[in-house]
Amino acid sequence: MLLDSDTQLNQTSYYEASVQRPELGAPLQGDVQADVLVVGAGYAGLSAAIELARRGYEVVVLEADRVCSGASGRNGGQAIAGFASGQAPFEQQLGKAAARLAWDMSMQSIDLIAERIREFDIACDHVKGYLYVADSPRKARALAQDCEAMQRDHGFAHDFVNGAEVQRYIQSPRYCAAAFEPVSGHLHPLKYGLGLVRAAQSLGVKIYEKSAVTALERGTLVRARTTQGSVSARFAVLAGNCTLPEYGPKVAPELTPRIMPVGTYMISTAPLSEALCRQLIPSNAAVCDNNFILDYFRFSADHRMLFGGRVSYSTRTPPNLKAVMAQRMGAIFPQLKNVPVDHVWGGFVDISMNRAPDFGRLGSNVYYLQGFSGHGVALTGLAGQLVAQAVAGQAERFDLFAKLQHRSFPGGPWLRTPSLVLGMLYHRLRDAF
Ligand SMILES: Cc1cc2nc3c(=O)[nH]c(=O)nc-3n(C[C@H](O)[C@H](O)[C@H](O)COP(=O)(O)OP(=O)(O)OC[C@H]3O[C@@H](n4cnc5c(N)ncnc54)[C@H](O)[C@@H]3O)c2cc1C
Repeated sequence: MLLDSDTQLNQTSYYEASVQRPELGAPLQGDVQADVLVVGAGYAGLSAAIELARRGYEVVVLEADRVCSGASGRNGGQAIAGFASGQAPFEQQLGKAAARLAWDMSMQSIDLIAERIREFDIACDHVKGYLYVADSPRKARALAQDCEAMQRDHGFAHDFVNGAEVQRYIQSPRYCAAAFEPVSGHLHPLKYGLGLVRAAQSLGVKIYEKSAVTALERGTLVRARTTQGSVSARFAVLAGNCTLPEYGPKVAPELTPRIMPVGTYMISTAPLSEALCRQLIPSNAAVCDNNFILDYFRFSADHRMLFGGRVSYSTRTPPNLKAVMAQRMGAIFPQLKNVPVDHVWGGFVDISMNRAPDFGRLGSNVYYLQGFSGHGVALTGLAGQLVAQAVAGQAERFDLFAKLQHRSFPGGPWLRTPSLVLGMLYHRLRDAF
């Protein structure tokens, strides 16, 4: 089951090992009223709560487990401009002008991270710099084309290099092309998330941990039930990512078929020397390849390699995970072949069919944010802001995203995983050859 493997891997996350969480608060007890109920204390829910509280709303957040125990506390920390889908679904469905607005908003999501870090004094090791890499001539051509399109359509520049020049950015025998941009970057995801929790609380938001919403009554007033209490509110924001149906299958069943939980995994090495880190990635950028099933990696502030990749469509933790991940890392950086691996963990990303974010409403007063498709560190912040604006009556920006059409995964609950596996296998073979 989704949660079992997730919780098991959470025990050994480098992020959990490198922060001191505050004491667990009391779960929700009794009946509580609020203006807005937020379900889920990951980045999306916390961002919505912060933006709603700023606008004077009384906000209650219900979190099934600990705050940021989901994807927000265990991700690669890569805060990236743009969308997992690229611009195609926006351009095809909404036209060039709307696609341009969506791109601009994705850039604002990057600025929003820096603003929040500054405003709420969040120490989370934020570093600027992002490097895309390509491991075959075909992928190098695709990377060059993407860079040209971003420059032409959005004035967004990369330093594209190939051949021996690549070694300037990354000392690896694996890559034949690379593109650097200074806008995206990386951070310690759990420190950032816990900073958002403190920010929300400082604005008066009440957050209850270990308070899973198991049922949601919809109407002029929404009422969420947990095992020991309930929250009644004028509005609800569902930000439960792919674990929402695990805790409350009936909370929003119409959303479930449109996203698929896909496991992605990370390891962290023991601390390395700073000199080796600067030798391998001189800019200290976050790195990601442009394969369909990608490797993503970077150094932590205490000089560990944090290496992510490997996926699971069955929600089961893949076998020999630590060894397989270490081998992948060693193939990219032979210098790291024998370094000890201290932590291994994983989590689930909520992918949509077209990889574009899936935001919208159920009725007039229940909003949802899902489908970040592995690209949510920056975009979730924006999503929370858009939903708060929509609740306050300014819905244009939210509605740009809500107009995107999303298809359900074929095959229903039982067959959608095999269908996805076949699709992914096709892309994996294309990447390999
Ligand atoms: C291993 C990994 C690496 C990743 N790397 C990157 C990266 O480098 N860059 C990037 O941009 N993105 C990355 N992502 C994706 C990114 O982390 C997510 O898109 C983002 O964190 C999603 O935030 P969220 O708030 O929507 O979901 P979550 O952080 O998962 O929060 C949802 C919360 O809702 C709670 N919840 C669910 N159901 C209920 C319920 N019924 N009642 C109460 N609470 C409930 C959950 O317990 C959870 O805490 C990665 C994800 C993973 C797992």
